[in-house]
Amino acid sequence: MEEAGVSRGLSSGGRPTARRARLLALPHRQVALAAAGSIGALLVVSVLAVSQATLASRDLQSAQSRLAPVDARVTIAQSTYAAMMQDARALTIKTPVTPNVQDFTNAQDAWTAYKRVAVRLPGESKLQAAFDKKQTVLTATLATFVAGTATETDLANVTSDFAKGSATLTEIARLYDVAAQQAYRAVQLHTDAVRHDVLVASGASLALLCVGFVLVFRSTRSRERANVTNAAERARELRRGELETELQRGLELVSTEEACYRIVQKALRRNIPTVAAELLVADSSRAHFQQVCRDEAGGPGCPVISPNECPAARRGQTETFASSTAISACPYLQERPSGDCSAVCVPVSIAGKTIGVLHATAPDREPPDRETAADIELIARKVGERLGLLRAFSRSESQAHTDPLTGLCNRRSLESQVRDVVHEDLPYVVAYGDLDHFKDRNDVYGHDAGDRALRLFARVLRDNLRPNDIPARYGGEEFVIVFPNCPVGEAEKVVERIQERLGVALYGGTVPPFTASFGLAASDPVLTFSETLEAADASLLQAKIRGRDRIVVAGADTNAVQPAPAMTETLSPATP
Ligand code: GH3
Ligand code: MG
Ligand code: MG
Repeated sequence: MEEAGVSRGLSSGGRPTARRARLLALPHRQVALAAAGSIGALLVVSVLAVSQATLASRDLQSAQSRLAPVDARVTIAQSTYAAMMQDARALTIKTPVTPNVQDFTNAQDAWTAYKRVAVRLPGESKLQAAFDKKQTVLTATLATFVAGTATETDLANVTSDFAKGSATLTEIARLYDVAAQQAYRAVQLHTDAVRHDVLVASGASLALLCVGFVLVFRSTRSRERANVTNAAERARELRRGELETELQRGLELVSTEEACYRIVQKALRRNIPTVAAELLVADSSRAHFQQVCRDEAGGPGCPVISPNECPAARRGQTETFASSTAISACPYLQERPSGDCSAVCVPVSIAGKTIGVLHATAPDREPPDRETAADIELIARKVGERLGLLRAFSRSESQAHTDPLTGLCNRRSLESQVRDVVHEDLPYVVAYGDLDHFKDRNDVYGHDAGDRALRLFARVLRDNLRPNDIPARYGGEEFVIVFPNCPVGEAEKVVERIQERLGVALYGGTVPPFTASFGLAASDPVLTFSETLEAADASLLQAKIRGRDRIVVAGADTNAVQPAPAMTETLSPATP
């Protein structure tokens, strides 16, 4: 979706997920603790396993000590019994042979010894009882041989009883053999379980350790990367901080908007030399944009006409366009003579009101990077701040020099402007004007009507004077006009015209009719401005005395006939 044309603000680029970031941010101490824990767990399991193995070994030993002696006794009994069997085979009835009593006694002793150590395995008592019974029978039968009374049956019984006794002994031996096998197997199972546990615990610990080491490794690497990023970020911040300080200082040193634009141009050239950039600023009506500063190649040449048509100015936020060919691209970016391009447009605002746009273009689909856009935003912000200050200053300056009711110069401003005229040694004429019977008009028509009359008179003055003439409201209903470099006769004609035009302006209007009287005085190298003004004031007084609505020129023949009054002094209400 690189095609996307518009992205508001600056995109933040790819970031790891929060989970991944948390994992990577694991402190080494925690990872070390995890590793220590896994080693500890392994040790505990190992100790337990060793103790279990020891117990199993003890069990084995105890089984051996219990079973082995019995087994030995059974073996002895079996061997003595085997000897008895040999003896029994030698017995016959026809030639009686005395049985080997000693062997039989040995066999009995061996049996008794076995019974002493026997551990009563299941089924053992039954076999013992059977063997004892057989022993009793055998003892009785052997006695017949010793007494010489043995019969054929006794002979057959001896062999059979020995065989049965021997089988019983073998059965007992097998019982012990099975018990020993079981004990071995139990111990072996136990040992196997322990080995399994140890293996599992070792594997788990090893895995934990590996995870720990991987985390440490990745954490270290991410920290290293973060350090590198931080260092780069710090360097960028430092550079931008320097740019901001420099801009601040440079802009503070200049007091005109044109000088501000030159500083912007320098900043653009030095900080973003690779992109085409220009500054568009709206005129006071905010109706038209004007290119006030551009790069050396002439700027990107945005054809937008007014702030209302510029998306960045309208929204009051930075707009980035990746491609002028995108559907959502700014219409003024499309079909430029320079071809397809990308752009970033940053509004320049004064107190939240957009008055301009800093516009920069780059190759198509390669919009100015974050760094460049941030520089452009900084320049736009600083120039906006400075323009705001300059405009506010100039507004307050002009307010200080302007009469708020009429918009004409006030007395202070007039004196300051006249100083320049005097300084240049220019001849001038002062006309002192005063509205006639103004107090009465106020009384009859009200103060608002009086204000309207003052504003109308000011407009008539402005409309009928040359650009160099200086009209001022000197106070109340008194006005002073200074005509620099103007013969007194010319000035008089202008004042006459003013009186005429006042009549025309009042005709059919909503302002009640009124007239004005004027006293004129020409400058003289020996007179100061105040003295010339006094002379004009004196002439005005004469005009009042002579009936008002007239002009008296200082130094002219006082009997000279003045032009006919433009208006008759009536107090009739204004025609609607
Ligand atoms: P004259 O023909 O002799 O000059 O008579 P005048 O009544 O014009 O002179 P006066 O000095 O007696 O009165 C001046 C009046 O101008 C008094 C005051 O109410 C009025 N005036 C002064 N400043 C203003 C203003 O700003 N608005 C209004 N409506 N009236 C003003
Ligand atoms: Mg007056
Ligand atoms: Mg007056």
